[in-house]
Amino acid sequence: MNITITKTTTSKLENIDFDNIPLGRTFTDHMFICDYADGQWQHPRVEPLQLIPTHPAAMALHYGQAIFEGMKSTLLSADEAGSQRREPLLFRPEENATRLNASARRMGMPEFPEDLFVEGLKALVEVEKGWIPPADGSALYLRPFMYADEPFIGMRAATSFKFIIIASPAGPFFSKPVKLWAEKNYIRAAAGGTGEAKAAGNYAAAIRPTEIAKAKGYDQVLWLDAHEHTYIQEVGTMNIFFKINGQFITPNLDGAVLHGITRKSVIDLLKHKGFTVTERPITIHEIFEASQNGTLEEAFGTGTAVGIAYIQEIGWGDDAIKVSETHPVGKDINDTLDAIKTGKEADVFGWMVNVMDKMPA
Ligand SMILES: *Cc1c(COP(=O)(O)O)cnc(C)c1O
Repeated sequence: MNITITKTTTSKLENIDFDNIPLGRTFTDHMFICDYADGQWQHPRVEPLQLIPTHPAAMALHYGQAIFEGMKSTLLSADEAGSQRREPLLFRPEENATRLNASARRMGMPEFPEDLFVEGLKALVEVEKGWIPPADGSALYLRPFMYADEPFIGMRAATSFKFIIIASPAGPFFSKPVKLWAEKNYIRAAAGGTGEAKAAGNYAAAIRPTEIAKAKGYDQVLWLDAHEHTYIQEVGTMNIFFKINGQFITPNLDGAVLHGITRKSVIDLLKHKGFTVTERPITIHEIFEASQNGTLEEAFGTGTAVGIAYIQEIGWGDDAIKVSETHPVGKDINDTLDAIKTGKEADVFGWMVNVMDKMPA
């Protein structure tokens, strides 16, 4: 399918102060948009970012058929580019395309062609490449999403949808250690539910518990399993890793854990660096004991937004589970991921996609 490109005549780019970008509030000039009607995706296009007229009966607003993805485009580092221009890169975009479609299937929504997903990202990023902040550690955050826009009152799958990608520049991100609250009352997901889907409703349900955790002085919720409130699942928008006695463990993908692309990549990187990584059920008791007997060496969260977030403490009822103050392996993995994403380190896994590389016609 041919992507039509219509450029704005009034770019906001020159008003942007790249040293001071309010997080998540600044949007680029254009969006990628594609409509689903009559059983097919049609009119893929890049056009000026604008409001979208929405019928008050649009089904996403009532029944929640809405899913999203999150990814980043980085610039090839100035050193690597040399005298050439610094080209924009994408990190494993086909993984996001596959996951979007897994979410779509779970939520009764149409799949989006995976090659068009990647080509749409490339087309948008190419038009917006001036919006990628040049400083090390910055990126253009990309938010692909799909929702039901058919006006209809009644419970069934919608028949018309929009798939859109918007972009938001993000300044250098410095991971500060986070404190988690292990939640014993509220749950995020159960096997058979929608926890594996990046579905909007999952995040709506997490807002209240997160506010409660914040009021207690914690940054984010650590979700436990729905039945016993014992098995660790993940954090807000991150998967979680622990280093105990020199070895890494992370919860296995049991149907209630989101399949993080950073998680998958970190497992590969840790193994590449010679660590043992085991995906298995992990209880909060086990982490408490490891902290008590001094074998809990590191803990960190993994996700596109933050890369690696070092975990300093986990509140669990009246107990505070202390993790180490330093995270040498987590930091090394974070630095390696950043280096791969900017071409400073060889892309031995073949993760990076250059936005300027066109698909063969
Ligand atoms: C998006 C997300 C993650 C992280 O996924 P990445 O692909 O690594 O960004 C983890 N958990 C939840 C609940 C998420 O929504």
